[in-house]
Formats: sequence, structure tokens, C-alpha cells
Amino acid sequence: MRILIVEDESKTAAYLNKGLSESGFLVDIASNGEDGLFLATNYHYDLIILDIMLPKIDGWTIIKDIRRLHPDARVLFLTARDGVEDKVKGLELGADDYLVKPFAFSELLARIRSLLRRGSTQSSDNLTISDLTIDIIKHKATRGSIRLNLTPKEFALLVMLAQRTGEVLSRTLIAESVWDINFDSDTNVVDVAIRRLRQKVDDPFEKKLIHTVRGMGYVLEER
Ligand code: CA
Repeated sequence: MRILIVEDESKTAAYLNKGLSESGFLVDIASNGEDGLFLATNYHYDLIILDIMLPKIDGWTIIKDIRRLHPDARVLFLTARDGVEDKVKGLELGADDYLVKPFAFSELLARIRSLLRRGSTQSSDNLTISDLTIDIIKHKATRGSIRLNLTPKEFALLVMLAQRTGEVLSRTLIAESVWDINFDSDTNVVDVAIRRLRQKVDDPFEKKLIHTVRGMGYVLEER
């Protein structure tokens, strides 16, 4: 498995290189956007870890070119930028996942493994679980023929759950990923957000897709 890291902070790049090499990956590093774009579009990588703020060419531009040339490439944004708008923009542009610095290496590794396991049938722009369809580019979610009217935050939350179908996601992980806040003990905000999302995604329909796993978190799957 070959991974490309596009990262201009040499410390972060070295840390990633060490950790990923020790985990058995072949790693290439580009320290600016121009080199990153060249490597990403001229060589095959199983996964590209992409920073957003980069010298010469930024991550937004790079992912557009990657998506145009290699629609199947898996891309994980790793960035200090936060805010749900950035996250939604990243997902809209075709990122498969998004992790905000600082991060735990174990969390990054878990996400990388999950991305690499993910079947290529699940294209990055469209997610389908049962009769739920999510079009990330068009910002549209439907169940059957019924369009769901979601806020940007609800949409980001649904995308996150759908991209990791069958995986139980903890409240802390959801809070950190969708809101970029460390809630510690107060993850009640996640429960409230999930309840609102359920009212739109599940309540009007017979088949429920969002499930509570007691003591652990939430999972979106067909049961
Ligand atoms: Ca940077």
C-alpha cells in the first residue's frame, strides 16, 4: 500500500512518515502543492493525505485535479483549518475523509484502514445505504423519492455516518469531527443533533437507518 503525504510542515510530515512506515505503508512526501500535484497525478497511490494550506498550490486546487484525473483515488484531508464549512467544502470537492490537526495517530491510522477497506463500489460523490441516497456534490439527500431537507450541519453529520456505514462512531468522535470542539463530558449536543437528524431521516419512514449503540455511540446501517 502506497501513501502520498502532501504536507509543508516538516515536523508533521516526518511524524506521519515514521508512523505510517512503521505500520507497513510505503510513503512518499511532497512538501509543497506543486510537487504534491505532480506526484498525485503522475503516480498511483492507494491513499493521498492532503494538507489544505500549502505553498504554491493549495489543497483545494490539488483535489480538483486529482478528482478529474483519478476519480477513484482516496483522499484524506489533514488540516489545521476548522469549521464545518471547510469540512463540507472538502467533502464536496471529493475528499473521502477529513481530519483536523492536532490529531491522535491512532485515530488517523484507523481512518486510513477504514478508507482502504472501503469497497470501490461506493463512489466518493454518491453514497447509498438502503433507500437513502446522498449526493455530496449536489448537497442532496433522499430516501426513496423523497428529498430530505437538511441543514449544512445535519448534512455533514449524515455524510460522516454514511461514509462509515456499519462502524459505531462515538459521541466524542462525532463531536470532534462535525463541530471541531472537544466536548469531553458534554456530548449531549451530539444526542440532540442525532435526534434532529433522525426526525428527518428516519421518523417518516418505516425502515430505520440510524441506530443507538448503548454506551458506545451511533451507527448508520441497514438492519
Ligand atoms: Ca500547511
